[in-house]
Amino acid sequence: MCATSAQSLLCDKPASEPRHLDRRAFLKTSAATSAAAFFGFGFFGTVAYGAALTQAQRDAMTPDQIIADMKKGNKRFRTGAETPHNYLAQQRASAKGQYPAAVILSCIDSRAPAETIMDLGIGDVFNARVAGNVANDDILGSMEFACKVAGAKVVLVMGHTSCGAIKGAIDKVQLGNLTGLLLKIQPAVDATSYAGERSAKNYDFVDAVARKNVELTIGEIRDRSAVLAELESGGAIKMAGAMYNVKTAAVDFFI
Ligand SMILES: [Zn+2]
Repeated sequence: MCATSAQSLLCDKPASEPRHLDRRAFLKTSAATSAAAFFGFGFFGTVAYGAALTQAQRDAMTPDQIIADMKKGNKRFRTGAETPHNYLAQQRASAKGQYPAAVILSCIDSRAPAETIMDLGIGDVFNARVAGNVANDDILGSMEFACKVAGAKVVLVMGHTSCGAIKGAIDKVQLGNLTGLLLKIQPAVDATSYAGERSAKNYDFVDAVARKNVELTIGEIRDRSAVLAELESGGAIKMAGAMYNVKTAAVDFFI
């Protein structure tokens, strides 16, 4: 049982119970940390050796360090130097508790899986995915849980180039429940300053809207979540925005 019902979603032990690694796991983690430091992987790199992110490691990281590690992970991915993940070992190491460093809001696009393109492992980040990476009450609630209850320190909203949801919003597509979702992107279409052709066929415009959509979504998160805004103003978390380029494989952090 966990200390609160919200915390019970995280673990199967009391939240107040000290968590300590057994000797074998500790030695593994120590060796992994040394190796990670040697190879410049950062803390996320420790999962290369089968260990999941520990509470002590996560708590020692600043939001800026977490963002820096995400950037390093993307560099490894786009240069073909990914960490050799042992997912089964990560699953076992994280089975009794999770200490993710960030919560990511990204699109459902099959070409933009956040963990893969930033070379992250099991237990490293929460990942909310919805077409067009828009915020809604459920997404905000998930982020509040991730940061306030579970201790994540970064809220990352990540859009991507050639986004079908953005194209749909530009074209004002009407289709079942998709209509309402695309309406949430419409403010970004309207707010995008662009001198050229404002159509879904112009990918420069599509990508400009996607970037504006990330900016507006971060603003909406601040406006609509007093919980997250308070954590941010107190320095406990940092909000960041990024665009993933499906052609170059680069994640560009621009906020
Ligand atoms: Zn998309």
